[in-house]
Amino acid sequence: MSQVITLFRLQKIDSQCDKIHVRLSEIEREIKEDVILKEAHQMHDQALVAERSAHEHERSTEEAVRGIQIKLEHNQSSQFGGKIFSPKELQDLQSEQSALERRRTELEEEQLNAMMILEKAEKVKREADANLAMAEQKSSSRQALLRGEQVTLQQELEKLDAERQAIRTTVSVDLADTYDKLRLQKKGVAVAMIVDECCAACGSSLTPADCQAARSPSKINYCPSCGRILYAG
Ligand SMILES: [Zn+2]
Repeated sequence: MSQVITLFRLQKIDSQCDKIHVRLSEIEREIKEDVILKEAHQMHDQALVAERSAHEHERSTEEAVRGIQIKLEHNQSSQFGGKIFSPKELQDLQSEQSALERRRTELEEEQLNAMMILEKAEKVKREADANLAMAEQKSSSRQALLRGEQVTLQQELEKLDAERQAIRTTVSVDLADTYDKLRLQKKGVAVAMIVDECCAACGSSLTPADCQAARSPSKINYCPSCGRILYAG
């Protein structure tokens, strides 16, 4: 077999391996990052904090209403307990009663509002719970799928690697060295096929003489534009 055909086969295998490596890194990243699950956790944490604070606020408004209620009860028992005889004192107590009642109304509104906020926060939290559970479920099936793909790709890689090693033993050391250097310099593609009298890697047109030369079974020819090894096909 001519050296160019061998190199072309080697190139095909190496390109396949490169693709697999890219996909394996993607998989690795996807498994590690799991953006959807991360977002679901964030949403859940936020909902939890919001629910706790709404609960706290509702509880404090409830306490405030109760506090006012106690003050009002004291006021009432002072007013009607039969121990106040001065009209001034009685008047003071009555205006305190009015002020307390106004404050109670305000606080009751605040409490109602806090209850509504709490109800909403609880709803959001329930939704976040469900969303997180779903994301966890989806994530574990996605991870299983990715791990399955990972195993398949690794097996494929091993197979290709064995083929690659076998082919490389048939390539001269110098040529293998040239090939490796070109792969490093030319984004992984050292051998380019000629398609319609053009280099398939860089796209530049080739002269009929270039194309003819590339058919030589003994000599290695290079694309005049990109410097890759030409394979006539
Ligand atoms: Zn080229």
